[in-house]
Amino acid sequence: MTEKNFVTKIQIYSYNELNDEDKNLVDKAKEATKASYAPYSNFHVGAALLLDNGVTIIGANQENAAFAGTCGERSACYNAGANYPGVPIKKIAITSFTRGNFVEPPTAPCGVCRQALLEFETQAGKPMEVILVGRDKIYKLESIKSLLPLAFSEF
Ligand SMILES: [Zn+2]
Repeated sequence: MTEKNFVTKIQIYSYNELNDEDKNLVDKAKEATKASYAPYSNFHVGAALLLDNGVTIIGANQENAAFAGTCGERSACYNAGANYPGVPIKKIAITSFTRGNFVEPPTAPCGVCRQALLEFETQAGKPMEVILVGRDKIYKLESIKSLLPLAFSEF
């Protein structure tokens, strides 16, 4: 028998500890929650991507009565893929807003979004930094890969 362990390193920051680039992305993710269409869940997700070319793209969850909506993270990365094909995503900030507050602790992407984002990261050939934004705390991770060990693409 052998054993394999996976480690996910999370660095926890306050907003004021972030550099200007990260603060800007956090602000845009929070602003993006206002573009969410979530009449069924009342859970408004905002995402902001910083591309390697300096462009920022936002996304927000979009629901419908058939419950076949799209998460904020995929809304953003598919927008990037369609409008800036081949341009790596340097980092992504994600936040959630419900019942009058940003969610604390920060929420992490769902499994489907992790898979989608991992494929963008894999295509880019370099890590996509992840910034999970809560009401008070901000979690930073080095890559999407760290959120999805044993990813589907590895089989
Ligand atoms: Zn998702």
